[in-house]
Amino acid sequence: MPPDIKSLTRDELAAHFTEWGQPAYRVDQLCDWLYRRRAASWDAMTNLPKALREKLRENFSLHALELVRKQGAKDTTQKFLWKLADGAMIESVLIPANPALYGEASDRHTLCVSTQVGCAYGCKFCASGLDGWKRNLGPEEIVEQVIATERWAAKESVVSGPLSVEAGAQQARTTDHGQRTVNNLVIMGMGEPLANYDNLLKALRILNAPWGGGIGARKITISTSGLAPQIRQLADEPEQFRLAISLHGATDDVRAKIMPVNKKFPLKELTAALDYYQSRHDRMITFEYILIAGVNDRLDQVRPLAALARRLHAKVNLIPYNTVEGLPWKRSDEKECETFLAALEREGVTATLRREKGGDIDAACGQLRLKTERELVAKP
Ligand code: SAH
Ligand code: SF4
Repeated sequence: MPPDIKSLTRDELAAHFTEWGQPAYRVDQLCDWLYRRRAASWDAMTNLPKALREKLRENFSLHALELVRKQGAKDTTQKFLWKLADGAMIESVLIPANPALYGEASDRHTLCVSTQVGCAYGCKFCASGLDGWKRNLGPEEIVEQVIATERWAAKESVVSGPLSVEAGAQQARTTDHGQRTVNNLVIMGMGEPLANYDNLLKALRILNAPWGGGIGARKITISTSGLAPQIRQLADEPEQFRLAISLHGATDDVRAKIMPVNKKFPLKELTAALDYYQSRHDRMITFEYILIAGVNDRLDQVRPLAALARRLHAKVNLIPYNTVEGLPWKRSDEKECETFLAALEREGVTATLRREKGGDIDAACGQLRLKTERELVAKP
């Protein structure tokens, strides 16, 4: 199969166009179709000459993600299950910035995207790794999660929803002209992003570029289970992407019990890599810490966690664990979470506790895919 058009940077596209004797403005027209108008076919690109469209068709593929299943109501958190060209499935989650309480549409959203099919890291609490790792996503498959979600959102706001027909049409027009539904990206879907480093960076550069997604680097957060060498590599990149570390344990014994990656990169090595990262960037990092009852929520974790956070200039996001079907773990109860938070704050650490309810749809990525694949297997 020829490479997908959305895996190329503008410079790479321009090199092809020069070779084909095409004027430079045609590249801008193509980028406009791909990233602003979110075209799903070559034929949609009506202002490109037919011969050029043919040339593009011969040299590149243009694949739009196919929506297999969607969970969640309009204007709340929504989970998308997409089918890729080879039939594999991945998830993205769209989270409105201000969940609309009174039925108005929220125009600011965070999208959580996947970077691999499955995950090889096998954290004991996570659905994404339960069936192992299948493959890395290409840059275009990471980029297309944003585009496909926006394609869906633009269509929805016209067809149905709380907006009047007139407002819907107006919104569709502004959307057509490049206003993004997705303003923030978190790379926290299925897979370990830093284990797919080159494709991830290429995708993020396309999503960050003014000719592409136009999403600011500071609005893009990469979450990792702690791959120390790649954290150092990321520290040397010029972009100001944000970094979140899935810590989930503040001592090696607690962390290694639930995250096998801690055996390869124990806390000493991880923190050394983060020291280096901090020496290159003056940015606050985030520690994600899911609270699992009886596993990592004991107060003896608070001191070491606070020490790490202070040393690395990190803020802590406490997240009550979302139960995963077939796994034995439970979330800490509300009181335990509040006590943990208060103890952390007493240590002088900036911390937040995610308090919203409805864990089944807010659940981390990986679960909808797992469920769907198992249902498909179960069917005769
Ligand atoms: N592999 C990367 C990014 C994907 S996971 C990483 O581990 O950071 C995104 C976040 O969701 C991680 O912090 C992960 O630990 C968390 N997570 C996984 N399963 C979860 C669950 N059942 N409930 C709550 N958070 C979960
Ligand atoms: Fe993979 Fe992250 Fe899940 Fe661990 S938490 S299995 S690294 S996706």
